[in-house]
Amino acid sequence: MIITQKKPIEELMAMVGDAKRIGIVGCSSCATACATGGPKEVEALKKYLEEQGKTVVVTGVAEYCCMNLGVKGTLKPFQDQNLDCVIGMSCGDGVQVVANNINVPVYPSNNTMFLGEAKKLGLFEEACHLCGDCVLGTTGGVCPISRCAKSLVNGPCGGAKNGKCEVNPENDCAWILIYNRLKDTNQLDKLSQLRKDKGYKEVAYPRTINIRGKK
Ligand code: SF4
Ligand code: SF4
Repeated sequence: MIITQKKPIEELMAMVGDAKRIGIVGCSSCATACATGGPKEVEALKKYLEEQGKTVVVTGVAEYCCMNLGVKGTLKPFQDQNLDCVIGMSCGDGVQVVANNINVPVYPSNNTMFLGEAKKLGLFEEACHLCGDCVLGTTGGVCPISRCAKSLVNGPCGGAKNGKCEVNPENDCAWILIYNRLKDTNQLDKLSQLRKDKGYKEVAYPRTINIRGKK
C-alpha cells in the first residue's frame, strides 16, 4: 500500500492561508490504514480548522482517492459550494485526482512516503520502488532496489557489518537477506546471475498503462 505521513500542521495552514470556506476529502484505503486520512482524521482536521476560525463546509471520504470515478462521486456535494480550497487527505496520487475534479485550489495534508508493507498495525516498511522491471524472481523475493540503500542490482557492496547495512546500521543488509533467502530455498545459483542495470534514464515519465483495448 501507499504509505503517507501527516505534514506538520503549520505547513498545511500556510497553504490554506486566508481561505475561509474549506472542503476536506479523505480516503478509506491506504490513508485510513496509515491514520492520515480516514474518517477519524478527517473529523479531527475539521475540528482543528473550525477552532482556527475556518468554516468546513463539506467533508467526504472516497473509497479510493486514486480512482477517478469514485472521487467524482465523493466530490459531488463539494461542487457549487463556493469553496476557497479543498484539503486532500490521501497520497499524492489521490490529491491529484481530487484536483482534477474540482476547480478550486487543492492542498495535500500528507507527505507520500513509499510503497510498502504494513508489518504490524502502525509499522510500515518500504518494499518496492515501482521500477517497472521486477527482479524479485532472482533475488529470493527481497527487493534490492528498495531494501538496499544503494539500490544495487548486483550486490552486496562489501560494506555490511554484522549483517547490517553500512549506510544505515539499523537496517539489515538487503543482500545478506537475499543470500539467506536464496540459500533457504535452494536457489543459490541465482546469486551469481548478472542482473542488468536498471537504466532509469530510459524511463519516460509519466508512464501510462492501458488494458482497455481502446482509449
Ligand atoms: S524489483 Fe523491487 S522496485 Fe522493482 S518492481 Fe520489483 S519489488 Fe518493485
Ligand atoms: S551494506 Fe548491503 S544494503 Fe547496505 S548498501 Fe551495501 S549491499 Fe546495500
